[in-house]
Amino acid sequence: MLSWPKRKRGWPPWKASWPGEIRALTELQRQITTQQTEIDRLRAALQQGGGDLSTPAPLSPPAIHDITDELVKHPTKKYATRKLDKITHICIHHSAAPATIPIQNVAEYHVNDRGWPGIGYHFYVKPDGATYQTNHMETVSYQVADNNHYTVGVCVAGDFTYQPPPATQVEAAARLVAWLMQELDIPEANIMGHKEYPKNDTSCPGETWLKNVTWKNTLLDKIRSVRSGLDGYTGKRIGHYVLFWQREDTWAQQDWRAAEAYFGRFRPTAGFSVDDAQTAEYVTIVGGDAGVSFEAERTLQTAGCKVERLAGKDFAETKKILDDLVASGRRFLTFPG
Ligand SMILES: [Zn+2]
Repeated sequence: MLSWPKRKRGWPPWKASWPGEIRALTELQRQITTQQTEIDRLRAALQQGGGDLSTPAPLSPPAIHDITDELVKHPTKKYATRKLDKITHICIHHSAAPATIPIQNVAEYHVNDRGWPGIGYHFYVKPDGATYQTNHMETVSYQVADNNHYTVGVCVAGDFTYQPPPATQVEAAARLVAWLMQELDIPEANIMGHKEYPKNDTSCPGETWLKNVTWKNTLLDKIRSVRSGLDGYTGKRIGHYVLFWQREDTWAQQDWRAAEAYFGRFRPTAGFSVDDAQTAEYVTIVGGDAGVSFEAERTLQTAGCKVERLAGKDFAETKKILDDLVASGRRFLTFPG
């Protein structure tokens, strides 16, 4: 004869007090994640040579091209100015236009069509990560109505109604914002999208800022990792980067093959990222400016890289330049080494 076990209190188990236990477990999980982040930070700090582990090293400024004086200004109107200590917030915008539009055209639109004293934004970040200063921070420019006097405006070029900005662009924006937060003593809570400011009824910086993929969170995550020193952007780490061009549908396949002997001889780091190349001491750009643009080249120079471009008038000539370097045992045309 079968004998059933006596029913225990809390039996069956699925009737036990689970919500409370789940809450406790979730809290534990959260604590573990927090601890893990701290462990990762300390480990990264140790690998970078120790130092003061309790506070990350101050951030060095990212590469910023200051084009403030090159942009068109209104012949008579002038923006008001302020002391830097009046700035407490950063306002993130999108340009709501194709990212390829030159910044000068944006400035002309603000001055000629809107009648403003100058371009509205203080900073402008392009999809390839190139970062521009377009107004002095002391300038109270027009970018977030009624809230201009205490904000710095950062425009991320493009329209983010349906798609968030690409990773390279978010990273560059994060580096810029993290650095501004440090310099201006601004807390994370004060990093807000245009539409989050009072009395600003706008979709800027795009529907994807707060909905769906929420690129606000992507940006804040990246800012945290920059500020904690976890993203490794603390100085030049790559010795020599050979930079090739790429576009969405095609890449520098021929140039890549042409460099095969060069790779074999000198074993540089090679790839397609201007962002990564910025962390190198030397950068060799392969091919003409139709591939890697002169703008990207200037970005690298501004970031302190020693840059040289190897470009023949055609693919065969580029290959010859590379092969001659291999034959002569020289890594660079214009630099020693
Ligand atoms: Zn805006």
